Amino acid sequence: MEFVSTRGGADAVGFFDAFANGLAPDGGLYVPKHLPLLPSDLLIDDALPYPALAWDFLGLFDTDHDSEHLIEIVDKSYGDFSDTMSAPLQQLAENLFVLELFHGPTLAFKDFGLQLIGNLFEEQIERTGNPINVIGATSGDTGSAAIAGLAGKKGVNVFILYPKGRISKLQERQMTCTGAKNIFPIPIEGTFDDAQAIVKALLGDNKLKAELRLSAINSINIVRVLAQSVYYVHAFMQLPPENRDDVNFVVPTGNFGNIFAGWMVHQMGLPVDQFVVATNQNDILYRLFNSGKYEPESVHPSHAPSMDIQVASNFERFLYYHNEKNSKSTLELMKKFQEEGSIEIPNFNASNFAASRSDDESILANIQKVKEEYNYVVDPHTACGFQDLDPSKTHVVLATAHPAKFPDVIKKAIGETPTEPSLEALKKKKKVSYPVEATTEAVQKFIEDNAVS
Ligand SMILES: *Cc1c(COP(=O)(O)O)cnc(C)c1O
Repeated sequence: MEFVSTRGGADAVGFFDAFANGLAPDGGLYVPKHLPLLPSDLLIDDALPYPALAWDFLGLFDTDHDSEHLIEIVDKSYGDFSDTMSAPLQQLAENLFVLELFHGPTLAFKDFGLQLIGNLFEEQIERTGNPINVIGATSGDTGSAAIAGLAGKKGVNVFILYPKGRISKLQERQMTCTGAKNIFPIPIEGTFDDAQAIVKALLGDNKLKAELRLSAINSINIVRVLAQSVYYVHAFMQLPPENRDDVNFVVPTGNFGNIFAGWMVHQMGLPVDQFVVATNQNDILYRLFNSGKYEPESVHPSHAPSMDIQVASNFERFLYYHNEKNSKSTLELMKKFQEEGSIEIPNFNASNFAASRSDDESILANIQKVKEEYNYVVDPHTACGFQDLDPSKTHVVLATAHPAKFPDVIKKAIGETPTEPSLEALKKKKKVSYPVEATTEAVQKFIEDNAVS
């Protein structure tokens, strides 16, 4: 399978290069050249074991690895999730289901993408003989999932910047208590945006990037999207047959990555009625799906911090398909967006989508409501998915994180503090972090001094 850029100014590449490049050289995002139809046997059998399904699905796109190698990588990525289903579907009511995506090592759905990415990096380093240095900025879940995917692997050092004091204590422990020598969590004085600006400056320096063999961890890698498509099929196959005719997936959304993964597999033939874009108070996507206007505002920190974003980077992929794969008009719109700061999408048609919005008060109320009505505890991100659901339709709400990751908000909502054994175990481990001054120069120097070579 070949991958092309949404902006049309880069050569088509195979799976290896689309994975290694992350961003296309013309600044666009890679998308598969064609979306193949889902093989019908995937939708006939009962739910396949997760690694087998992932292998069947990813093999449609990854024609660079031989299949035995891919099986090995996929098994390693999903074989030891804590629940044998990896992504089990829980039924709360006749028409209401929760897809639990928090059984990976860091208890959030990002493990599905980043466990695979970690093993693909390892395989790439072995295949090419070239070590790499991975850098990224995180507001919590991405950094810890990336670290869990790469801790202890040979030929790679990992540098993750995060805003000191602005991520949850447990998220910080997940990054700093791995005990792995190749992991460098870097707290900086400042905000997530400051951390991200430094990472962008380093990655934008092509000379430095080549010298240090820098690779990025962020949500634009197409492989993360493909990895996430798999659990939509897995969820569908776990539904009782009578619920399969009008499925609505409700997706707590920030960067539009997770929901785009679902929409893509729907384009490949998975029967879905609608995708519900569930935002917190940072509601750029809610406003978009109600007005056709894409217009960032400033970010207001919320109870669902992993969705506190301004610009949804994966939206460009949706725009490309909305423009009927016309990369010229996608490029023009993205240019206009960069120049003017907002865009009106021409002939906006999003009949596959609905949208909801939860402010902090609704997040607390939804956690309470779900506990009272179904005796089930959801995390603050997942809580956004329970806003304004029509009870006459089948809904599958994606549970994006384990509630024990956000004990303070849960306590505020229902007066109890959820716990989880792996998080409790972290509290006994030693924290190791590397504070660096929040300037590009200082971070560059630190990476140069500690790079794997
Ligand atoms: C990252 C994250 C989200 C948002 O996912 P997107 O792919 O950015 O839409 C939602 N919930 C949790 C817990 C997350 O970590």
